[in-house]
Amino acid sequence: MAKIISGKEVSLAVKQEVADEVAQLKNEGIEPSLAVILVGNDPASKVYVNNKKKACDFCGIRSLEFLLGEETTQEELMELVERLNNDETVNGILCQLPLPKHLDEQAVLNAIKPQKDVDAFHPENVGHIMIGDYAMLPCTPSGIMEMFRYEGIELDGKNCVVIGRSNIVGKPMAMLMLKENATVTICHSHTENLKKIVSEADVVVAAVGIPKFVTADMIKDGAVVIDVGINRMEDGKLCGDVDYEACEKKASYITPVPGGVGPMTIATLMKNTVTAAKIQNKRGK
Ligand code: NAD
Repeated sequence: MAKIISGKEVSLAVKQEVADEVAQLKNEGIEPSLAVILVGNDPASKVYVNNKKKACDFCGIRSLEFLLGEETTQEELMELVERLNNDETVNGILCQLPLPKHLDEQAVLNAIKPQKDVDAFHPENVGHIMIGDYAMLPCTPSGIMEMFRYEGIELDGKNCVVIGRSNIVGKPMAMLMLKENATVTICHSHTENLKKIVSEADVVVAAVGIPKFVTADMIKDGAVVIDVGINRMEDGKLCGDVDYEACEKKASYITPVPGGVGPMTIATLMKNTVTAAKIQNKRGK
């Protein structure tokens, strides 16, 4: 039976560290703050934004929410980003994705000042991740790295397979594991022999968006299995990209859904907000 890596437990430890750091910064007159923009009425996005607010409250980070209507224009959204870019009391800016279809997502991400880009989606921050020299970390992959550290899972020389090549999870995940000297393979929808590639992995990270995509026959005995997927089923329950019940019997470590990677993403966001506040107040790099 696999050891369950509890995102709740690890994220609490990270958030506690962040809270301590925030308290220290406040003593120096610095109050980290995060502005979250939500456009439209996507129910899942509303839940995420609410969870981010709760985490800010826990850490002592000032949170500002900008809830914009579905009909918001590109110009209005860009104006808000510009205003927040220029507001010295705002350290981090996050625009909750996905945006309604009529809006240009990449243009908005590109407009956020790199120093305030707590999601690390701006091309400048993406470039830093490629080089391996970064201050702002991509939240989900970085949260997963935190889980590896917490559990003492060593990646050096390991065969790691990431399933999914999105800009927000798959690609940066591969880069962070590469930096730890893993041998990394990225699989995606065009990959041939995916099953064989995954079956040779010491560590599998599934970020596909298909419920129970990774089955027990695909993983090798003792593999570390990280499930990024958040899929809402017809009964309203959440399901990951991994067949948890079956893989749990074969893996050495596994993350549950919910309560796995999700809380880590938010904890890293808190960390990034503090990093942004420190950079803007010349306390860090
Ligand atoms: P995405 O839709 O942008 O990318 C999915 C990737 O899966 C693509 O690269 C695609 O090539 C690959 N893929 C699709 N079908 C495939 C197949 N049959 N075989 C192999 N690869 C295939 O998704 P994303 O934004 O990276 O998100 C992936 C999942 O992770 C979603 O369920 C999403 O909700 C979840 N997610 C969770 C968190 C978190 O904090 N836990 C954060 C971000 C995303």
